[in-house]
Amino acid sequence: MPAAFIGHGSPMNALELNRFTTAWRDFGGSVRRPRAVLAISAHWYINATAVTTMTSPRTIHDFYGFPEELFAVDYPAPGLPELAEEIADVVHPTWVGADVDSWGIDHGTWSVLNHAFPDASIPVVQLSINADRPLDYHLDLGARLAPLRAENILILGSGNIVHNLASMQWQLADEGFDWAQRFDDAARTQMLHGPDGFGRLAGHADFDAAVPTPDHFLPSVYFAGLAAAANEAADVLVDGYTFGSLSMTSYTLGASVPESAEEQGTAASALPHTSPADSNI
Ligand code: ZN
Repeated sequence: MPAAFIGHGSPMNALELNRFTTAWRDFGGSVRRPRAVLAISAHWYINATAVTTMTSPRTIHDFYGFPEELFAVDYPAPGLPELAEEIADVVHPTWVGADVDSWGIDHGTWSVLNHAFPDASIPVVQLSINADRPLDYHLDLGARLAPLRAENILILGSGNIVHNLASMQWQLADEGFDWAQRFDDAARTQMLHGPDGFGRLAGHADFDAAVPTPDHFLPSVYFAGLAAAANEAADVLVDGYTFGSLSMTSYTLGASVPESAEEQGTAASALPHTSPADSNI
């Protein structure tokens, strides 16, 4: 089963049709139906490693300052409670807790799945990102998840390689600052040619600007762990920048996605860009 890391950007991407979300659709359309999606989202960043185990995970609208239509999005995919045990087995001796009622499906996950699998019929399980652990823990845990791909589980990391909210400029809709491009380029080289050394990016001169907090970067570290374990080169699904300080670069592993996403160029959004002055993305 293929795997992906998606740079999700603004929650409005859940509703907009642009060259990024078109690529997410193309990826979803290119894979055979998985038994479940195991999502590692930047937005479930807590002090534990846990997986959701509810049969009907709720759609979480974990943002503010966005239009009402975004709060109206429901992604009613079922859960897959028995996957928790399989995950615990493959990552052993790393401990993974079972979340029975605190989380669900957050917007890092549903903004992508709303395009990739719009009918919401494939079960979705989320794995939290443990904020107490160092980068190498996440790289190792990503690699340990690799056997699940052979069990027909689609592993999806959702974050942004470059994600600096304080530096964001809403008028720079399709641009990236020089430092953002330098770091994204370095991450790409490492991801495509040496994913086992992805942790070296922490020593990059632009790391502190690109990754002021680890939450959006770490899902890409899980994906790098998967690529390293597979000994298989990742592919760039789509790339680009938004608001100056976010990279939208996305990767796939083991997928063959049609070229249509690239042919789209900078397609106009189906909905106007919104620019909430005060928001968490
Ligand atoms: Zn986000």
